[in-house]
Amino acid sequence: MARGQIRKALSGFYYIEQDGNLIQCRARGIFRNRGESPLVGDFVEYSYDGESDGSVDKIHARKNELVRPPIANIDQALLVFSAKEPDFNTILLDRFLVVLESFHVQPIIVLTKLDLLNNEEKQALGQYVADYEAMGYEVILTFKDDPALLSTLGHYLKGKTSVLAGQSGVGKSTLLNTLIPSLELKTAHISKSLGRGKHTTRHVELIDIGEGLLADTPGFSSFDFDTIEKEELSACLPEFQRISENCKFRGCLHIKEPKCAVKEAVESGEIRTYRYEHYQQFLQEIIDRKPRY
Ligand code: ZN
Repeated sequence: MARGQIRKALSGFYYIEQDGNLIQCRARGIFRNRGESPLVGDFVEYSYDGESDGSVDKIHARKNELVRPPIANIDQALLVFSAKEPDFNTILLDRFLVVLESFHVQPIIVLTKLDLLNNEEKQALGQYVADYEAMGYEVILTFKDDPALLSTLGHYLKGKTSVLAGQSGVGKSTLLNTLIPSLELKTAHISKSLGRGKHTTRHVELIDIGEGLLADTPGFSSFDFDTIEKEELSACLPEFQRISENCKFRGCLHIKEPKCAVKEAVESGEIRTYRYEHYQQFLQEIIDRKPRY
C-alpha cells in the first residue's frame, strides 16, 4: 500500500496523485458499508498494480471537512470581499469569518476593487483593515490588474491547501482564473461548446499551483451557523477568545453575566462595538435555531 492524497473525485472514481500523475482508483466496498465516503483532500492508503484501477483502502483521520464544496483537510480560505460594488460589509464578513473558524479553516481576508474607492472611502476602509489586523487576521489589499498580486498570494498559498470563499460578485472567479490560468481555458472551451458560461465545473479538484494546492471552485459561500453551539461562538472570534479567558464564569456568553471580561473590553474600546453587536446577533440566531433531530 502507498499513501497519497485524493485530488479529484468524479463518477465514483477517486484520483490520487503519484509522481505527477493521477491514479484512478475505486473505493473499497467497506466504506459504503460503514456509510463513509472518501473526499477530495483525504489522505489515504491505496493499492495500485500499475495496470487496472487502484483501490482506496484506508482513509486517514481528517483535520476538517467542508460540505460545499466537499473537501477535507483544508488549511485556509482566501476570503474574498469587495471594497465596493457590493459595498464592504462587516456583518457579512464576520459571518464568513465565524463559520470558517468553526471549521478550523484559517481565513485570509482578500479585499478587492480598492481602485473604485475615493479618498474618503479609502480612509474609512483603512480603519477597518487596521481593526481586523489587530484582531489577528491577515488582510490582503488588491486592485484591478495588480502586477504584484500573484507573488503576494503565492506567499500565502505556499505549502497549504486552500479554498476560495466569499459572497458572489466580488471577483472570486477572476481571482481563481488568475491563480489557475488553465481553468479559464477549460471554462471558455466548455462554455463555447455548450453555449453557456461559468458553473461548468461539476466536480471539485485540488490543483497543484506550484506553491500549494487550491480547490478549483469559487465554492464556499455558506454562512449559516447550523453546526455552531452557543457556547462555542465566542471561540470563533479571535479577540473574544483571547479576552474571554478572563471572564469570571466558565461558559460565559458575554451577555448578562457579571464580571465579564468581554463586556469590559467592549466598554474600554478594546473590542470594537460592531464586533460585539454582530456577536449578539449571531448568538441570538443560534439560540433561536430550531432543534435538529
Ligand atoms: Zn464573558
